[in-house]
Amino acid sequence: MSPVPDRTRVKLFNWSARHCCFCGKPCTTNIEIHHIDGDHDNNVEDNLMPVCFDCHGELPRYNTEHPRGTRYREAEIKARREQIYELHTRPYLRQAGIKVSKFVAQARTPDGNPIERPLGDTSFTAQSHSTDLPICLRIHITPFQEETQLDAQLSDLYQGRDLWNLNPGQAVMGHFHLPITPESDPFRFRVEIHWSIVDVVEREHEMLPFSFVWSDSARDWWYDPRVIHTRN
Ligand SMILES: [Zn+2]
Repeated sequence: MSPVPDRTRVKLFNWSARHCCFCGKPCTTNIEIHHIDGDHDNNVEDNLMPVCFDCHGELPRYNTEHPRGTRYREAEIKARREQIYELHTRPYLRQAGIKVSKFVAQARTPDGNPIERPLGDTSFTAQSHSTDLPICLRIHITPFQEETQLDAQLSDLYQGRDLWNLNPGQAVMGHFHLPITPESDPFRFRVEIHWSIVDVVEREHEMLPFSFVWSDSARDWWYDPRVIHTRN
């Protein structure tokens, strides 16, 4: 039986503000960490939840011989835990905006025109709308042409492996390359963006996904509130 690492304990107690993640009551010191799958060596965050002494006794108990009562299912327990985490971390959540374009963000030629990037070279801007707390964004971009996913070799910042650190009000401009050539006609391109915002107590809030689609008439990327493909 390996103990839950201190760093993880601090995080989970922060996320729940020391409330029981099953019944929701405030616990102060009367709180323990429950292993949802019953394996006390499985200390991954998703298998853990802070609970009060009463719930810790109740959660694993289930007599299959007993004719009444319904066992708590793992999915139900985890969903309840997420509600409690959300309740106590939402005050730390700050919003951000994302934009995809073929123009160099905020740059102009000497005569005042926007600067176009070469075909396939795509501008990406992440902007924090926070006025006080820092946030991090996890961005996962998947490009398609029609129904076919493009092999775009995006860097870790666009594949959800590295986070975008944003201080209050900060905007970060980057770009990524898509395999688009003048022969790509018809230009039915779509980049689907799945993303989440990580708050100052390291809690990750999943946002709704959306897309940018290539507009032939505007010759630029346009916001589309839908995603067509499910992320694998
Ligand atoms: Zn409880």
